[in-house]
Amino acid sequence: MPTDIDVSTGKCPVEGCCYVQAKGRSPDFKRHLATHTAALVPDKWICCGLPIQDARERGVHVSRDTVPREYEGIPMVGGCGQRFSRQDALKRHLDQGKGCIGKVDAPYLRGNQEKSAEKKSR
Ligand SMILES: [Zn+2]
Ligand SMILES: [Zn+2]
Repeated sequence: MPTDIDVSTGKCPVEGCCYVQAKGRSPDFKRHLATHTAALVPDKWICCGLPIQDARERGVHVSRDTVPREYEGIPMVGGCGQRFSRQDALKRHLDQGKGCIGKVDAPYLRGNQEKSAEKKSR
């Protein structure tokens, strides 16, 4: 994800965008960039797999060669990394049995973290 403007040209680093920043006004650019990031699907619901220990407990063979994918600082295995805009979409993906493992209600999923944060604030 590009986050910085090309200072020499003032051009937006996002591919396909023709926005050019007027000199010396970076707050404008930050606001502009936010319009791009908001459009992206956040990794709230990601097929991130399971923490290595959980995967082993489920009988998943985790070999020494398996490179875990890190999510929220936890090394995970068994996910494909695909992102979903909704929890039920992720659930459907896991239910399809394409070899991905995961837990849609896992506390480490950013979507679930947001949910519990909402509860607390109420
Ligand atoms: Zn742009
Ligand atoms: Zn997957």
